[in-house]
Amino acid sequence: MKILVMNAGSSSQKSCLYELPGGSLPEHPPEPLWEGQITWVEGVDHASVKVKTHQGHVLKQDLPPQSRFDDTLKLLKTLWTGDTQVIRSPEEIALVGHRVVHGGSHYRQSVVVTAAVKAEIERLAEFAPVHNPVNLEGIQITETLLGNQTPQVAVFDTAFHATLPPAAYIYPGRYEWLEQGIRRYGFHGISHQYCAQRAAQILQRDLANLRLINCHLGNGASLSAIRNGVSVDTTMGFTPLEGLMMGSRSGSIDPGIIIRLLRQEGYTVDQLDHLLNNDCGLEGLSGVSNDLRDIDAAIATGNQQAEQALEVYIHRLRWHIGAMLPSLGGLDALIFTAGIGENAPQIRAAACAPFEFLGLKLDPEKNANRPVDQDIATPDSAVRVLVIHTQEDWAIAQEAWRIYTTR
Ligand code: ADP
Repeated sequence: MKILVMNAGSSSQKSCLYELPGGSLPEHPPEPLWEGQITWVEGVDHASVKVKTHQGHVLKQDLPPQSRFDDTLKLLKTLWTGDTQVIRSPEEIALVGHRVVHGGSHYRQSVVVTAAVKAEIERLAEFAPVHNPVNLEGIQITETLLGNQTPQVAVFDTAFHATLPPAAYIYPGRYEWLEQGIRRYGFHGISHQYCAQRAAQILQRDLANLRLINCHLGNGASLSAIRNGVSVDTTMGFTPLEGLMMGSRSGSIDPGIIIRLLRQEGYTVDQLDHLLNNDCGLEGLSGVSNDLRDIDAAIATGNQQAEQALEVYIHRLRWHIGAMLPSLGGLDALIFTAGIGENAPQIRAAACAPFEFLGLKLDPEKNANRPVDQDIATPDSAVRVLVIHTQEDWAIAQEAWRIYTTR
């Protein structure tokens, strides 16, 4: 059975094709048959396409200016044409899984896409104006290619956090906010759920008896407190702006700052939106870049502003890890994932250091040794520390398969 995964972001469309031998789920993520990505860069008139197949064929191409819709159709057509061909025709695709960023309060789990589901995804664009429209477009593109006989499943980034208790999701504002849907939703749910399940596998423990904190540290970053397999707290909220300091997002700041910027500095709403999402965080504070590797390089040359930015990043990370603890009442494992979580041993060591009082002991050698899906705590540590390579696309494929086979 071949499953196509569509993962649309604000400036990229990632996609991959999995084959499930014998029609059942393997325990470990298989290599995709085909992986494709288009990137649209602001101010650049062409899109860049990159395709890779399991047989080692690679296609890199700049597309002439067209619509996002047409670019994505072209990307998908490389599945059955040219050197990157891995199927004879689109009919071989049995199922499509789509990442959809916002499922609101309504979608507590993944669903088969229907006309009503599409209408709801469109309605929820009010809460995720950058992501939900492109996620919906991805659904329309695969419908155009495959017709409406091929089942499509929407996998929501918010759904894993549907189990947050009211005290964790209600803002201490006005009650009317809640009625208007202004509440905490949480994001990165597909990654948090995947890592929780993988952690249980690595630890050979039952997920139903584990207390976990998952640190998803990429360009966007969030934590999830997971008790007995369900999300009980998280750092992102109504939007992905809340919580940790990120690559270019501020994370949580005093709302009074926003009032000041509006009142004294004459910011428009759009300028504020751009500022807080694109010009803050590591980028804004260091003046160097949103990429940790550039910050590290700048620090190595004595850039003190970059060093201070990193200190704030670490302070905020520790602060939020601490804030996850009360919802768990203890900690069995601290997990690091995504670009920074998987690749930056110095961030992992700094995040862990203040929690030694819990009996957490990091093994410095294991931490430094490029761990993948591995426990990097010492044998006598009271808390396990795991580095897990997050596999969101595989998690979407698994979810699509699960929903399709149990409907
Ligand atoms: P996104 O949220 O865009 O999916 P990723 O999970 O790919 O982000 O993480 C991107 C970030 O990971 C980069 O901005 C960079 O800071 C960090 N990163 C990637 N590789 C390394 C590395 N080898 N060392 C330190 N940081 C890294």
